[in-house]
Amino acid sequence: MALIEHRQLIILGAGPAGLSAAIYGARAELKPLVITGMVLYGQASLTHTIENYPGFPKGIGGMQLGQLFEEQAKAFGTEFVFDEVQAVDLSKHPYTVSVYGGDYTTDALIIAMGANNKRLNVPGEEEFIGRGVSYCGTCDGWFYKDKDIHVVGGGDSALEEAIFLTRFAHSVTIIHRRDTLRAGAILENRARTNPKIGFIFDTVVKEIRGGEGVDELLVENVKTGETSLIPTEGLFIFIGHSPNTKLFEGQLALEPGGTIKINEHMETSKKSVFAAGEIADPHFRQVVTSAGMGAAAAISATHCLETMSCGL
Ligand code: NAP
Repeated sequence: MALIEHRQLIILGAGPAGLSAAIYGARAELKPLVITGMVLYGQASLTHTIENYPGFPKGIGGMQLGQLFEEQAKAFGTEFVFDEVQAVDLSKHPYTVSVYGGDYTTDALIIAMGANNKRLNVPGEEEFIGRGVSYCGTCDGWFYKDKDIHVVGGGDSALEEAIFLTRFAHSVTIIHRRDTLRAGAILENRARTNPKIGFIFDTVVKEIRGGEGVDELLVENVKTGETSLIPTEGLFIFIGHSPNTKLFEGQLALEPGGTIKINEHMETSKKSVFAAGEIADPHFRQVVTSAGMGAAAAISATHCLETMSCGL
């Protein structure tokens, strides 16, 4: 494909990690180019209110925080391309990033492409996406006004979203595969004391059934093996995330859990290729930690370019 241009620093992804990297890269006068992908501001944009990002004691909307990151990155000279990465060639330096519009080459690369919602992989899930199955309360909650719905998962996302969904739904029942929650104490306490929220423990969803929309769930109690049908008007699934590493398989070392392997400088197994945020973070996955990793990656990239140690 035609070469569009060569850059010193390309950042893949426009979530908290990518945009923080852009702020730092731009302030180091590397004129970074951010290739956004299809989802601006990452998964944080789907969060109704972020209550634990420092500096916003009353909380801030995920989309609003992303817009502020973007504004700050642009103010220092970051450029944006709203396109999706099709391929990355790390076999020779400078590296090539191919998007629908053509190819870019770059001296240094920061990969901040985040992670996607995990699927349950049960019959009916694909079929009912958008008509009863959802992975985003902020996006779809409104469609479930006064309905009796279910949430799968026992982590912070499941509880946070379940609490948010009580704004609309008549009832929200959380189905969790164990009898203790993974979520933190504050969210657990809020969920347990919310009169609209109920729990079904030790239970997994085996099948999602319905007609026009979702009508019932076939569930199994993992302790007794007993199966039963639960009527429902909607199912929200929050069972974690898988890092978007497909383009890097065979090119970069990955951790056993699938994230990109990095060292404390955010360096990957390839010289002058850095990774930050959820694509490289199997532990924390917070907006603030992703932003911190992005800043660290850009500082490392700057050092690498200044000392000409970027595979040149
Ligand atoms: P998570 O912490 O990995 O929790 C995933 C939940 O889904 C777990 O309860 C897990 O069960 C369950 N699960 C996984 N696979 C399943 C399957 N196939 N079938 C049924 N259940 C399944 O993911 P998360 O809740 O998305 O949170 C991700 C990270 O973001 C965490 O570090 C979390 O602290 C952070 N986060 C923080 C906030 C906040 O601070 N307000 C909000 C959202 C997310 P088990 O417990 O049995 O493994």
